Amino acid sequence: MNLNNITQQYLALFPGDTSGNPQQRQTPGVLWCTVETAGFPKAKLLHFNQKLSEEIGLGIFENQQDQDFLNSNVKNLPIKPYATAYAGHQFGNWAGQLGDGRAIYAGEISNFNEKKTELQWKGAGATPYSRHADGRAVLRSTVREYLMSEAMHHLGISTTRALSISLSGEQVVRDIMYSGNAAPEKGAVMMRTAESFLRFGHFEMASASKNLELLKELTDFTIKNYYPEISGEDKEKYLEFFREVSQRTADMVAGWFRVGFVHGVMNTDNMSILGQTIDYGPYAMLEEYDLSFTSNTTDLPGRRYAFGEQGKIAQWNLWQLANALFPLINDANALQEILNQFGDIFWQKHDEMLSRKFGFDALLPDDSSFFSEWQQMMTDLQLDHTLFFQKLEYFESITEIDLAEISYLAITEDLFSKFKSFLNSYVKRLNINTISRQESLALMKKNNPKFILRNYLLFECIEDLDSGSMAYFEKLWTALQDPYAVVFPEFNQKRPSKYNGVAGCSMLSCSS
Ligand code: AMP
Ligand code: MG
Repeated sequence: MNLNNITQQYLALFPGDTSGNPQQRQTPGVLWCTVETAGFPKAKLLHFNQKLSEEIGLGIFENQQDQDFLNSNVKNLPIKPYATAYAGHQFGNWAGQLGDGRAIYAGEISNFNEKKTELQWKGAGATPYSRHADGRAVLRSTVREYLMSEAMHHLGISTTRALSISLSGEQVVRDIMYSGNAAPEKGAVMMRTAESFLRFGHFEMASASKNLELLKELTDFTIKNYYPEISGEDKEKYLEFFREVSQRTADMVAGWFRVGFVHGVMNTDNMSILGQTIDYGPYAMLEEYDLSFTSNTTDLPGRRYAFGEQGKIAQWNLWQLANALFPLINDANALQEILNQFGDIFWQKHDEMLSRKFGFDALLPDDSSFFSEWQQMMTDLQLDHTLFFQKLEYFESITEIDLAEISYLAITEDLFSKFKSFLNSYVKRLNINTISRQESLALMKKNNPKFILRNYLLFECIEDLDSGSMAYFEKLWTALQDPYAVVFPEFNQKRPSKYNGVAGCSMLSCSS
């Protein structure tokens, strides 16, 4: 691998703390701290994403040095690891300084295909931002991020990516259900990549520090590198930036609705400034259709981060970003206008997305009542979001047996007739299409995945890995690269009932 191509621009561009002091602390006035990775002498590489490595200009895996790099053993390598400072709103409340507590930057690869790619380890040890935690990650949660981020990429949704995953060789103690039953688990370290890992929280941090110059430098850097199409000066430039971030965020969340992704922890520190899905924790793919479904046990009291709330929460988070950028703009009305428009823009994107899933060539003014009827039917019949759209391709011949395959309820005559009545509405709507049936089906196949990474599949994969086998992992890896085809028919079914209510198969805690 071309480790010599890795640079650390941040260290030259922004003020930082080079003391190397590992103590957990507040770091006012700086955007980063140099840190040392813990070093895992007994680490063992489990999987390496060769294709991604070549794509970003890191090259092919060759030798022990490459292995050491991926395993975060970099004492003898020309790498200066660092962690960045960010702040954020968690569950609606200002949480102050947070920062990379479990992630450490190796740097970035610049000027390859005129694109920059940042590299980060997750689980490589504590930093000044670890806030009484250990900076370690367990295999269970690391596998979930590794596979799901790649699954999202292949589904066509903007996301951070996964480069490698290793066993750290350490045991890490975690209390999975916060029940007082802490137990040791296998530790892991992964390397992930993104054009940039900057979050809304980085801007909130710079803004909260009341250092206008720092906020300006950070925002100018972001625009220059990641939004080069933005021209204009001063206020206009920053307003345009905010508008673009809003657009990208709307695209991302509409993508989540298309495939049924529930993030689970949409805190502002988990919102990418590039509109990429980031921080895969207690997420889930929606199975039985339920707008109020949340995958995060910590979110249960208010269901703030429920599937159906994600557009609204994105807007709330953008509101916090607007507050952070305000000192550069000083025009509340202009920011307010963009925020107000977000709702319309998002729901327009959402409804257009939905119409493509149904195979409609255009979104019509009356479609909102058709969509409401569909939502009600899906909820009443507890239909599987992904399997429903597959069955819909053959709507003419759906039987009660077919319906039972995609419902989490026992299908009665009454439920079947409800379904038939929805199909009548569908056929009526389909008849308004101006494209051929063939073209309509092609649209459906392109927008409705056949394979989604369900939590129970990950659960089974983690059990298999724990027993020392990579077989299940490799099979999921193959399936997730081709999500619009049925590669393994056994993955194309609803969650088996034995997993109903099992921790890790539907809902998860944040414990990672
Ligand atoms: P998250 O809920 O994963 O987005 O994390 C929120 C904050 O807690 C971030 O600043 C993380 O870096 C930090 N954090 C979470 N887990 C750990 C851990 N095991 N060790 C250190 N910091 C952590
Ligand atoms: Mg986070």
